[in-house]
Amino acid sequence: MKIDVVTIFPETVQGLLREGVVRRAIDRDLVEVQIHDLRDYSDDRHRSVDDVPYGGGPGMVLKCEPLFRAISAIEDSVGLPEAVVLMSPQGKRFAHPDAQRLSRLSHFVVLCGRYEGVDERVRESIVTEELSIGDYVLTGGELPALVIIDAVARLVPGVVGNARSVESESFVRGLLDFPQYTRPAEARALRVPETLLSGHHKEISRWRKREAVRRTLNRRPDLLAQASLDDEERAILQELLTERAKGAGV
Ligand code: SAM
Repeated sequence: MKIDVVTIFPETVQGLLREGVVRRAIDRDLVEVQIHDLRDYSDDRHRSVDDVPYGGGPGMVLKCEPLFRAISAIEDSVGLPEAVVLMSPQGKRFAHPDAQRLSRLSHFVVLCGRYEGVDERVRESIVTEELSIGDYVLTGGELPALVIIDAVARLVPGVVGNARSVESESFVRGLLDFPQYTRPAEARALRVPETLLSGHHKEISRWRKREAVRRTLNRRPDLLAQASLDDEERAILQELLTERAKGAGV
């Protein structure tokens, strides 16, 4: 998979790609991230890429022409991308299905805005989708771009060593993940649940399913409407709802 990122802060993006799972994915050629400094596509000697907004008002706006030239350069060297994603607080809220969808592409571009945003003609002519990472405004699209790259890269086959760890995680099937414990079995008088120490695989599996369903019911009941539960999980949900209806804390 190839991801091109266009930004005025290439070092910021580069820095976080030097660590962890994404770094290993890049080292193993499973993911290739090419970072483009938008200023390289400026046409003036000050390398400026922003200007004042038409109509007046505070702040600056990223000009459309450097972004057009950046995209043309990417198309000339790598070919037509399958998606051009503009990071924007006004975009669709990024969620797990978007990460899955993007992880199946072989090449996409991420555009990072700054200042008051990007000249609207960029969205009108080259952007195929706008993604937001939440209902708040950051100073730039670099952190959102890294969020997207991280979430997408770990879904690319082979990036996370044990595929089961990706499959069981929160949101994959519409359930939050079950609680995790590691050694020691007791710390500050808090003991790991006995079932997990029992070595009894079937009981451990049922305990985990119950905890995942319970957590989702308590914290994110909205997810359950779309969740793909197996028969055992459906039965657990029913039990928990019955207990709750009887007034028992679940
Ligand atoms: N004036 C814009 C508005 O109110 O919608 C906000 C511009 S913001 C200060 C600058 C840039 O940061 C945006 O163009 C976008 O690329 C990025 N950005 C800020 N918040 C974001 C978010 N929640 N999700 C994705 N990108 C975001």
